[in-house]
Amino acid sequence: MLTKRIEDALNEQINAEMWSAYLYLAMSLDFDNKGLKGFANWFRVQYQEEQAHGLALIDYLSARGGRVLLKPIAEVPVTWENPRVAFNDTLTHERKVTSLIHNLYAMAEEEKDFATRQKLNTFVAEQVEEEDTVTQIIDDLNLVGDDGVGLFQLDRELGQRQYVAPQL
Ligand code: MG
Repeated sequence: MLTKRIEDALNEQINAEMWSAYLYLAMSLDFDNKGLKGFANWFRVQYQEEQAHGLALIDYLSARGGRVLLKPIAEVPVTWENPRVAFNDTLTHERKVTSLIHNLYAMAEEEKDFATRQKLNTFVAEQVEEEDTVTQIIDDLNLVGDDGVGLFQLDRELGQRQYVAPQL
């Protein structure tokens, strides 16, 4: 049986994942407008991943007999100055999500909710990967600097990313 505290926290996390999806969709649209189709593709895949995170928690909460509450999704920005700003914002955001997941994990331990704790293991691992991937892209962007050819090549590379449903 889920405690009310865990149920509320899972609902908050669902909203955070859906907000993340919204954020990355906005970034995707912004890059598409700017003609950076590869960056747009990368963020569109990221959007799909975040939706999968949200859905996995929805299914889990539902399976545990909890009540899923789809709360309003807060507004997201519309535009970013350049890819570096967008990826720095992404890293900041993913670090915040990591701390939310860690807080939830600690709460599951406090409540002796071992099923929720186990469910969150894949999310903990997923966050390590997210932060690592984004950090690598920021490194690439720093290396490229203001070089147009480098940016063109990176755009081509990020255009190769394909959505693979995460195993949650
Ligand atoms: Mg996520």
